[in-house]
Amino acid sequence: MNVFVLNCGSSSVKFQIINTDLEMFETDSDHRVAKGLIERVGKDDAIISFEADGQSPVKAIEPIHDHREAILRIKKWMEDPATKIDGIHSWDDIHAIGHRVVHGGERFTKSVKIDKDVLAQIEECSDLAPLHNPANLKGIYACYEIFGDRIPQVAIFDTAFHSTMAAESYMYAIPVEYYEKYRVRRYGFHGTSHRYLAYRYRKLAGKPREEVNIITLHLGNGCSAAAIKKGYSVNTSMGLTPLEGLIMGTRSGDIDPAVVEYLFNKGIGSVADIFNILNKKSGMLGVSGLSNDMRDIEKAASQGNRQAELALKMFALRVKKYIGAYLAEMNGADAIIFSAGIGENSALVRKMVCQGLENLGIELDEELNRQAVGGKCLKISKADSQIAVWVIPTNEELLLARDTVRVVRDVPRNW
Ligand code: AMP
Repeated sequence: MNVFVLNCGSSSVKFQIINTDLEMFETDSDHRVAKGLIERVGKDDAIISFEADGQSPVKAIEPIHDHREAILRIKKWMEDPATKIDGIHSWDDIHAIGHRVVHGGERFTKSVKIDKDVLAQIEECSDLAPLHNPANLKGIYACYEIFGDRIPQVAIFDTAFHSTMAAESYMYAIPVEYYEKYRVRRYGFHGTSHRYLAYRYRKLAGKPREEVNIITLHLGNGCSAAAIKKGYSVNTSMGLTPLEGLIMGTRSGDIDPAVVEYLFNKGIGSVADIFNILNKKSGMLGVSGLSNDMRDIEKAASQGNRQAELALKMFALRVKKYIGAYLAEMNGADAIIFSAGIGENSALVRKMVCQGLENLGIELDEELNRQAVGGKCLKISKADSQIAVWVIPTNEELLLARDTVRVVRDVPRNW
């Protein structure tokens, strides 16, 4: 099947076309045939970049006013005779669409085929993720408008993998009525990435699911950790929203909620203004005063910039705290997995995170750590390290595509 995988943000549309099917999963023979991104959707100078496998990328700046126009532009490119995508000549060669949906609330614990009822329930989850779900929905509605019911559409939720957390992990210690009335609890995000990492580790280690006891670290612009026991997520660092947990590019992560009232009383702005600061102006950007990008922070720190050094130390210490917490919660682990932009590329961050964890059984091999950059999949711990450390490049799109196939073919997920 050719699956069109769509990830819609408020002003961006990201896609991949993946050729996959049930029998291809075991041999990992499924593969991406095209990918692309439209940024600045809603503007007259939207940035378009498309690429069919093995061909030079197409780049353009054009007016793209909404998500519908963005998807029509992708369709036009796909159907252009000059574009040569393996096995695809027109939209009729697309067999299913898989949408990334950020928040599935408590309702969605696995991927589902989208119908009117599902749409209404995703709408209901929007107040839990007002920055994300409405954008995901725009993509779904646009596909309905353009393609009608001809192509099955599947929703894959970022929260779903963490739905196996127990109440003691997902409840906040606030009056229980807020959970009962408003479902205020921890949900967790990046679920598709953590699930992919657990799956990939299982294959690399040649273990059955029940023996996968690991800590996965998705360290990108957004960052989260997950504790995975017997193959299931038992805890994760993000909460009701993606603001909780690790320090991120622009998000503070864990913070005393009293800070909000204190800043409010100081006249910094409304509660919404303060949350905007915590979401968009904090984290590595806020502490360094320079950038949200780890590359800039590392460079500045190497040149003696104190704030950048501090930001790096804070980032690493927060990751350590979660590793320690999850090792305690799971009574140890077999492996720690680094992934996403920072986890896959920054030998320095990995070194700082693992430094001083020798007594917990974590020993990095410095040379292997240095080698693990640019999307390499590598074990970077010493041969006798009690807990293995891996760098595994994440591939959320592949799981989105595979889930789409499973749902369309009505085959339950065995992993
Ligand atoms: P992601 O959200 O997974 O695409 O990760 C994006 C982030 O990864 C960027 O903002 C950078 O902070 C970080 N990153 C990418 N490449 C490197 C690198 N070579 N060294 C350090 N950080 C990197």
